[in-house]
Amino acid sequence: MLIERCSKLIAALEKEGVDGAIITHGTNIRYFSNFTSDESVLVISKERRVLLTDFRYTIQAKELSAPAFEVIETSRAIAADEIAAVLKEMGVKKCAFEDGYLTVREFNNYKELPVELVPMTPVIDRVRLVKNEYEVECLKKAQSIADEAFAELITKIHAGMTEKEVANELDHLLRVHGAEENSFDTIVGSGPNGALCHATPGQRKLQEGDLVVIDFGCKYMGYCSDMTRTIAIGRPCDELIKIYDIVRRAQSAALDALRPNMSAKALDAVARDLIAAEGYGPCFGHSLGHGFGLDIHEAPYASTRSEDTLVPGSTITVEPGIYVEGLGGVRIEDDCVLTEDGYIDLAHTGKDLIII
Ligand code: ZN
Ligand code: ZN
Repeated sequence: MLIERCSKLIAALEKEGVDGAIITHGTNIRYFSNFTSDESVLVISKERRVLLTDFRYTIQAKELSAPAFEVIETSRAIAADEIAAVLKEMGVKKCAFEDGYLTVREFNNYKELPVELVPMTPVIDRVRLVKNEYEVECLKKAQSIADEAFAELITKIHAGMTEKEVANELDHLLRVHGAEENSFDTIVGSGPNGALCHATPGQRKLQEGDLVVIDFGCKYMGYCSDMTRTIAIGRPCDELIKIYDIVRRAQSAALDALRPNMSAKALDAVARDLIAAEGYGPCFGHSLGHGFGLDIHEAPYASTRSEDTLVPGSTITVEPGIYVEGLGGVRIEDDCVLTEDGYIDLAHTGKDLIII
């Protein structure tokens, strides 16, 4: 499997006239080598695959990446001359690197390497675009943990709890149900804070009449889930109920339209047009969705500017929202996997407004 993944990478690079790659981004290192520490560098060419890491990790690195990779022990910082020696030995001339993830300092060090460096983050990342059966199983499991944790959370939420307490409880429940870690920091936005799309949970206490936006996910075998539900504490005002209904209809219209090989831009438009027709266009300022996998945000992207196609095996979230400053917000998000003839919605938590 690892050799096949590396071959896919090399084939993608060869189309661009490039004959090797230096991989430094943690999720890409994991994808190509199974090794789970980003304190390492992969050098990949058509003939050879080398994993450089220091003494602390060499045993795990060998266990996880064999037989696809040779492991070479380096100094702790993995100096440029150590990478240079490997590149020289492998005969790489034109080498792809992940310009999207390097620090300026790392890049300055890499400029010393005896190869022509070619920035190719999107090409490298997109090797992970189409998920295989194993990956889809991991994504399903990550989402089922999230569904279970959420079902338990709503039996515990009550007015008077702070957003931070809700987030802490949810994070704990995710782990109880088998999560390795969060996919990203849990978002809990209550009342007017719901209008902040990425609200940091704070000391605000949940009050009667609040809508509460809860956006969260967890990892299983490194694979991320991502779901949002908006719940109510007591009966919210008529405008919030109306907004909830619009977002729910926009989300279900997009899910009804979702098909393999459709353009991601067209999917975004389905939800966006419905929200605009209801007069809330300016209140939906973010894109409809994103792919997810080893990274929580990865290709494809469903936005007004996207040129991506939703090919079978790729993933996409469907997450329209309406945010009204001073009043509150609503977002509903499912994470979906495209198949040959449709898609699987991984999220099994219902969408009728839950009033606590
Ligand atoms: Zn989310
Ligand atoms: Zn998302």
